[in-house]
Amino acid sequence: MEKWIENLLSLQETDLRIRNLRLRLEMIPEEIRRLGMELEDNKKKLDLTKENCMRFDLDMKKVEGSIKEKNVELQRIQAQSAMVKKNEEYKALLSEIENVKKKISAFETEQLVLMDKAEEEKKKFRDVERVFNDRSKSIKDEKTGLEDLVARLKEEIVKLEIIRDEKRKPLPQNVLSLYSRLLSKGSSSPFVQVSQGMCGKCHLKLTPQTINSARKELMTQCDNCGHMIYFAK
Ligand SMILES: [Zn+2]
Repeated sequence: MEKWIENLLSLQETDLRIRNLRLRLEMIPEEIRRLGMELEDNKKKLDLTKENCMRFDLDMKKVEGSIKEKNVELQRIQAQSAMVKKNEEYKALLSEIENVKKKISAFETEQLVLMDKAEEEKKKFRDVERVFNDRSKSIKDEKTGLEDLVARLKEEIVKLEIIRDEKRKPLPQNVLSLYSRLLSKGSSSPFVQVSQGMCGKCHLKLTPQTINSARKELMTQCDNCGHMIYFAK
């Protein structure tokens, strides 16, 4: 195999590694952003559950207040009933007492229902809080991991770029300029192998002249896609 082919394949290997590392690097900010969003969503969920708990506590306090109020009212009416002389008045007060007792009983039932609900909501809050705490920690670790990865990738790219520059040196200018143009164009390899008379990039049949030129190990491009081609030996 001609030296330039070997050199170009070696250069291409390094360039493709650099490209892959850069692609990985480019993905990281979005990954970090997503983690931040997830953390925010979890926080919102936690806050909402906490609000629900507080609302139940508030409702409980209201009902407790109502019960106290009604009990005061009850005592007042009972005291009053002890002092009335007339039978009719006494009867009226008794029915008032019954009414207040019914109301107290209704409030107490409401209180029990609220207690259950509040307990349920508190349990939910503890669960959400536990998930939030665990996930927050793992999100933080993941973020740190990604930040470390950025540093490592950048370091590796710098190293590879030095190697790449060295590998470019022995190659002829015409080879380099065509190769560089193809490399900058897309995501594929600029220099591809001929396989069964077809271009390794576009997989279309090559003309006999093109195949001949590649066999002679001259700088050759695919008739269709323009990629540089070579025969493996
Ligand atoms: Zn092609």
